[in-house]
Amino acid sequence: MSETPIRVTVWNEFLHERSEPRVAHTYPEGIHAAIAEGLQQSLGAAVVVRTATLEQPEHGLSDDVLAATDVIVWWGHMAHDRVSDATVDKVQQRVLAGMGLLVLHSGHLSKIFRRLMGTSCQLLWREAGERERLWIVNPSHPIVEGLSGEYFELPQTEMYGEYFDIAPPDELILISWFEGGEIFRSGCTFRRGKGKIFYFRPGHETYPIYQDANVRRVLANAVRWAAPGGSRYFGEGRQIVEPLSPISGRPA
Ligand code: ZN
Repeated sequence: MSETPIRVTVWNEFLHERSEPRVAHTYPEGIHAAIAEGLQQSLGAAVVVRTATLEQPEHGLSDDVLAATDVIVWWGHMAHDRVSDATVDKVQQRVLAGMGLLVLHSGHLSKIFRRLMGTSCQLLWREAGERERLWIVNPSHPIVEGLSGEYFELPQTEMYGEYFDIAPPDELILISWFEGGEIFRSGCTFRRGKGKIFYFRPGHETYPIYQDANVRRVLANAVRWAAPGGSRYFGEGRQIVEPLSPISGRPA
């Protein structure tokens, strides 16, 4: 029996790759293409993956595209403010209605993530090409299924450090330690309305992080986890005139 494929849209601002030779060398087709390739390889017929970028009409996120997206993956860095508020409104409404959202790396300052958190989402950072060790602190969670050992490592990364000003995560899946000594909540889940959100830290544009097998495993697992489903009830506000049981002091 074949399952209905999860419809994924990988969104990338796609600016660094076209302006910086070092980034173009690491991601010749763009960060979105590398992420899409990893999802396709990991999930095969279980997904249909499309990509969208900032400079396309409506940032590649028309009503039709959003309506046909089960999970959206978001990578942005230098042009968060160029994403229109109208698009942010629409993505937020889709998340509340059940669309999954994966926010990657510098997407922590995207309009959509800050909107959904309600906080500044600021953090500490350092670009020194240091080693990162990502500790799995929720080993039974589906997002880390198939990873072996207590942690995995990335040989060269940009450091992100606490304090990370987010809403308290519903679940903490990964905590990073960096060679320079800092730590960071690198894998966090949130629920907003019917939608599931996963923030995943790895992914600086000058390192081949979206080619890493463990990173690809986490992203593929996260797409499956964030896909809509399993929510039986979502409250719509309404007036209840008749109580379930008698109210003794009720005025006649
Ligand atoms: Zn970065």
